[in-house]
Amino acid sequence: MRLAKTHHTMSSLSIRNLHVRIGEKEILKGLTLEIPKGEVHAIMGPNGSGKSTLSKVIAGHPDYTVTAGEVFLDGEDILGLEPDVRARKGIFLAFQYPIEIPGVTNANFLRAAVQARLPEGEELEATEFYARMYEKMDLLEMPRAFTGRAVNEGFSGGEKKRNEILQMAMLEPKYAVLDETDSGLDIDALKVVAHGVNSLRGPDLGILIITHYQRLLDYIVPDYVHVMMDGRIVQSGPKELALELEARGYDFIKEGLERAEAVAG
Ligand code: ADP
Ligand code: MG
Repeated sequence: MRLAKTHHTMSSLSIRNLHVRIGEKEILKGLTLEIPKGEVHAIMGPNGSGKSTLSKVIAGHPDYTVTAGEVFLDGEDILGLEPDVRARKGIFLAFQYPIEIPGVTNANFLRAAVQARLPEGEELEATEFYARMYEKMDLLEMPRAFTGRAVNEGFSGGEKKRNEILQMAMLEPKYAVLDETDSGLDIDALKVVAHGVNSLRGPDLGILIITHYQRLLDYIVPDYVHVMMDGRIVQSGPKELALELEARGYDFIKEGLERAEAVAG
């Protein structure tokens, strides 16, 4: 018997022909991308190409209007779901600019977030929670004093990024989107964050890393690299594509595309 051919695999974050507007302006113009569980994919692209827009649309940010296309999580259409529902289903987004939450300590924030993902009626044990949090903090070389500070308030750029990875480690998502996790990091902080992300890699997690520079990919080596320009993925390839981009710049891809368009007439 032949199985019916399904459009989307059951274990991937699958994005097809996505068109997104903000106000009257179309930003994503038919973007297609598939991130199988267990793989790390990187998107590189010039500023303004729509990378952060893509990450926010995956998370369900209300400012963006999807006019066409699909986003499937393990075979389930998630475009109609609220951001918190998507998060509980296993989508995690680390923001390019993490928000501060004055008055709420890191520990309380994480505890509430982990608690919110448990089945109804299940209570998170305090001792178990703290043991897990300290384990993940050690991994990210975060001092214990972090737990008592308000979320991201007065944190340096590097501390905020590390905090985002701590949130990810605690929430154990199925798919994580890391938007410019490298921006604002010095080389030591970058290595710590990369070590944290690498230690979370595994068969149950798909990771999408969005970055402007190749540097992060020296430390988190992706399975695939995609180049995004003007709201679309214009080229995909193995990790070496990142090195080529670094060496030759985005213009060489743009010129290639223009030549191809000219030939196509
Ligand atoms: P990237 O992350 O690749 O630099 P963005 O997704 O941030 O790109 O932005 C893509 C385009 O969408 C840019 O031209 C940007 O000015 C525009 N844009 C993004 N967010 C908004 C917004 N909230 N309002 C208006 N334009 C926006
Ligand atoms: Mg961006």
